[in-house]
Amino acid sequence: KPPSSPQPLTPETARSLVDSVEAFLFDCDGVIWKGDKLIEGVPLALQALRSLGKKLVFVTNNSRKSRKQYAKKFASLGLDVSEEEIFSSSFAAAMFLKQRNFPKEKKVYAVGEEGILEELTLAGFSCLGGPEDGKKEIELKNNFWFEHDKSVGAVVVGLDQYINYYKLQQIPKVGFLRKVTLCNSNEISSQKDNSDRYATLCIRENPGCLFIATNRDAVGHMTDLQEWPGAGCMVGAVAGSTGKEPTVVGKPSTFLMDFLLERFQIETSRMCMVGDRLDTDILFGQNAGCKTLLVLSGVTSLSDLQHPTNEIHPDYYASNVVDFVELSRT
Ligand code: PLP
Ligand code: CA
Repeated sequence: KPPSSPQPLTPETARSLVDSVEAFLFDCDGVIWKGDKLIEGVPLALQALRSLGKKLVFVTNNSRKSRKQYAKKFASLGLDVSEEEIFSSSFAAAMFLKQRNFPKEKKVYAVGEEGILEELTLAGFSCLGGPEDGKKEIELKNNFWFEHDKSVGAVVVGLDQYINYYKLQQIPKVGFLRKVTLCNSNEISSQKDNSDRYATLCIRENPGCLFIATNRDAVGHMTDLQEWPGAGCMVGAVAGSTGKEPTVVGKPSTFLMDFLLERFQIETSRMCMVGDRLDTDILFGQNAGCKTLLVLSGVTSLSDLQHPTNEIHPDYYASNVVDFVELSRT
């Protein structure tokens, strides 16, 4: 059971953590990088862990990129990390649908960016939405019934800079029917506009339609110095208009942890989750029985950690990954 008052790492505890752990799960933003900026000293620190034979896994809730795109980002920052070591929430969404045997003849509507579309496509699913629909505008036409695609069986929501009303479209049925009666217009069928309006309609109207959230982070680092609204904002929009709660597949979901455990077959007591967020990273590790290390190089400050209302306590904390590895070597 983690201590209710987390301990700063000391050389002794850092050494025993490294000795007792076989695999380190690293969160990315706030741990490895901030936005597009590498946190200084990280490449050498990771190399030191690798040279001790530690398995390194990178788990990010940021769904904007696919694993392939993240591998390129790691390389561009001078880090030698393979695609197989990266687990993004975009990949998790595709793996969730695969595990559920989501029928290939059905479609997935994405309120999200390229990373989600790429992972879904790579997994063999046919997708709609994404940045393309960000350019579309709704037309508010009275007496028109806007159709949505009945073959959509899942809606995946992640960070979407291009979210708009087109993607969210939902028509209040009662208002619609009343208007048609009032204006005494032609047959509904002759008024159908076959354009396609999505996320909330699909979730509300298509029987059994899945509502999947890559993550619900309140904020993210779209740039290195500032926090921006995260996927929690877009997920909240769809949850708000459907009255439904999504299945989250990124951190802190048990789905993603079970997926990692099955892939790596390592006992959770021999794994350590290293992250900068309490409600995603630390909870993710803690729920599975992993050791947990909070680093203060990202969104959580020491005063957040020690705040009386905080109920999520990591085993240890350190100022950053570089200090942790250096402490373990002193
Ligand atoms: N989502 C978005 C859009 C982000 O920009 C970030 C961080 O930059 C995150 C999520 C959190 O990512 P991570 O899990 O790597 O901290
Ligand atoms: Ca983070």
